[in-house]
Amino acid sequence: MGLLLLLHVLLVAAAATAPAADAWGKEGHYMVCKIAESFLTKEASTAVKELLPGWAGGELAETCSWADTQRFRYRWSSPLHFADTPGDCEFDYARDCHNTKGEKNMCVVGAINNYTAALKDSSSPFDPTESLMFLAHFVGDVHQPLHCGHTDDLGGNTIVVHWYRRKTNLHHVWDVNVIETAMKDFYGNDQSTMIQAIQQNITEEWADEEKKWEACRSRTKTCADKYAAESAKLACTAYEGVDQDSTLEDDYFFAALPVVQKRIAQGGVRLAAILNRIFGGNSRSGFRAVD
Ligand SMILES: [Zn+2]
Repeated sequence: MGLLLLLHVLLVAAAATAPAADAWGKEGHYMVCKIAESFLTKEASTAVKELLPGWAGGELAETCSWADTQRFRYRWSSPLHFADTPGDCEFDYARDCHNTKGEKNMCVVGAINNYTAALKDSSSPFDPTESLMFLAHFVGDVHQPLHCGHTDDLGGNTIVVHWYRRKTNLHHVWDVNVIETAMKDFYGNDQSTMIQAIQQNITEEWADEEKKWEACRSRTKTCADKYAAESAKLACTAYEGVDQDSTLEDDYFFAALPVVQKRIAQGGVRLAAILNRIFGGNSRSGFRAVD
């Protein structure tokens, strides 16, 4: 067996046995952070660059899947990627933000608030580089509807479906498959073309809404609970008509894609807004810091 073929077989085997991921795939997180970079104030952009690890090459987006690689090293961080609900299409912080042991604030919303607070506080014991990378990742996660899915099916992870001809699960469809199919069908498999398309939507189709996306009146926290509530509502629609062994094809894809694109856009705009509030600087477009 040739070395390349052996390597291929090993990689395929590794992919087949990989545990179900609990995050937008690499592409989703990269896109959220790439969009965020373009909305940062000069001051925030400089502060972020100073905190990035050397391997990021000065790009926040390069670090936005780091948190997924730390889930086994930092086991406590695993529940911070999501906030599942009993399935009533709502997110209730007091009820839903805890880990499996019932420890409060151990969910994606609590994590966004905590890492934001840590970055604002220079005496925080947390490593600021890690806080930044966690924050950037979790703001992406909270926008993926199935990260606020239903507890009893682990946010769709236990619902096995066929995405066209491929066996996958409902959670993975929203993390990865919709984005992959869109890239292949509409963007020539080029991530930057898809990012540009989303950015263009933000400045054109969603120009009026965009201000509302970033508005947050909370003085003490972020508005991540609001983003989770939006996801919980979208998740209920995502589950509609989906059962074990369902086959999801064009109808589902064309309903899901606009939602995925908008959530990536909102994630990017809001991550930038949070970072701009943390690191100060003048508004890029009328954003008002209230903290
Ligand atoms: Zn994640």
